[in-house]
Amino acid sequence: MTSMTNEPHVAVLAFPFGTHAAPLLTIIRYLSKAAPNVHFSFFSTSESNTMIFSNSKNDAVKAYNVSDGVPDKYLFTGKHQESIELFMKAAPENFRKGMEAAVAETGRKVSCLVTDGFFWFAAEMAEEMGVPWVPFWTAGPNSLSTHVLTDFIRDKVGAGGIEGREDEPLTFIPGMSKLRLRDLPEGILVGNLNSIFSTMLHKMGQMLPQATAIFINSFEELDPTLTNDLNSKFKKFLNIGPFNLQSPLPPPSTPDANNCLSWLNDQNAESVAYISFGTAATPPPTEILAIAEALEASGVAFLWSLKDHSKVHLPKGFLDQTRASGMVVPWAPQLQILAHGAVGVFVTHCGWNSVLESIGGGVPMICRPFFGDQKLNACMVEDVWEIGVKIDGGLFAKNGLISSLDLVLSQEKGKKMRREIRGLKGLAEKAVGPQGSSTKNLKTLLSLVSRPKDI
Ligand code: UDP
Repeated sequence: MTSMTNEPHVAVLAFPFGTHAAPLLTIIRYLSKAAPNVHFSFFSTSESNTMIFSNSKNDAVKAYNVSDGVPDKYLFTGKHQESIELFMKAAPENFRKGMEAAVAETGRKVSCLVTDGFFWFAAEMAEEMGVPWVPFWTAGPNSLSTHVLTDFIRDKVGAGGIEGREDEPLTFIPGMSKLRLRDLPEGILVGNLNSIFSTMLHKMGQMLPQATAIFINSFEELDPTLTNDLNSKFKKFLNIGPFNLQSPLPPPSTPDANNCLSWLNDQNAESVAYISFGTAATPPPTEILAIAEALEASGVAFLWSLKDHSKVHLPKGFLDQTRASGMVVPWAPQLQILAHGAVGVFVTHCGWNSVLESIGGGVPMICRPFFGDQKLNACMVEDVWEIGVKIDGGLFAKNGLISSLDLVLSQEKGKKMRREIRGLKGLAEKAVGPQGSSTKNLKTLLSLVSRPKDI
């Protein structure tokens, strides 16, 4: 048997769905570079690891595959969040096995547990192992707050649903008085409160305050009221973003296979609509049709990241007729696109990374949220920060999108949004600057995870 040393060994437990594992790996790669004496073992499913480790050679972070939790010969029923539920059910045991293998292989006991924020069970694991638990919340402080306050919200609003009360403001949540009951993520007051996913979020909200520290891809100055409130709820609340502006963090290497950036070079400043709904959301066929009709009728130049399987819903002849004014690609280098001066508006589902990347590029948004934290984010964008607009009626319709595009690209209101978002961009740049709050918090995180295990 290998003899054990007490040199630091950080076990990183990733959530393999949506845009969770990739930003976690980004920060882990940074920590690994900054603390070469610390060994980092990164656990996710083989599908997720293959995707996010694909471009890495000689990575100091060691990837371990854990099972996706799908039993042999399992037949998927098509149930909502089926893969997530299977994964979560088996996750504690699978991660335990994975960590045992990494400890045996490295001869180093685990000294710190860094996990996706969803993994509430890691609180107990870390306690058993006698190590700090440092979860990463991949979304914004607003949704984090609603999960930590779920019991309080349920008490305050009462059981029995919110029918007829959808427009009641969330005055009792610090920093969210402009939002309404209807904007809360499903699983808090509406939807199936007993599903595995809702229960996971509920337990997570109860357990996170026990963490040694929690870190988040955001910056304190974005939401001072929320930041203060969360500072009072957690032992350490470390805003270390936005990652897309943090120069020590390695940028994601997204190849520009379709030459989107050179196409943008030929467009007028602030004229192009960039359209993308992230990795998990896809608008229904009627809305894809409405977007296409609005783009064609308005003549606005566009760059649309649309998965190949959705292209069948485009109107006949759309791609040929718009060849001169637009591009449709299955995947785009979003970060660089939003930082390009030709982009004037981002039509988005309001995933947290997308919102931060839009702030980083100073590009106002047209919001069409689908699920989870997206509604909250869209409300923050329109009602609190005033850096974008929600789509009328919550769904894409041809005329609604034409007027939103006109508002953001051509009206005085759109210019004001651009000024506001550039103001936020300035605050974000300051936060990641040499004396900035995120830089300071990143140093705290680094020193926390670099400690050897207490014997
Ligand atoms: N993204 C990209 N190219 C695309 C679509 C998305 O690079 O064509 C990236 C985008 O830059 C962001 C992530 O995918 O970092 C989407 O994350 P977000 O949190 O916005 O949404 P999610 O995928 O979690 O719904």
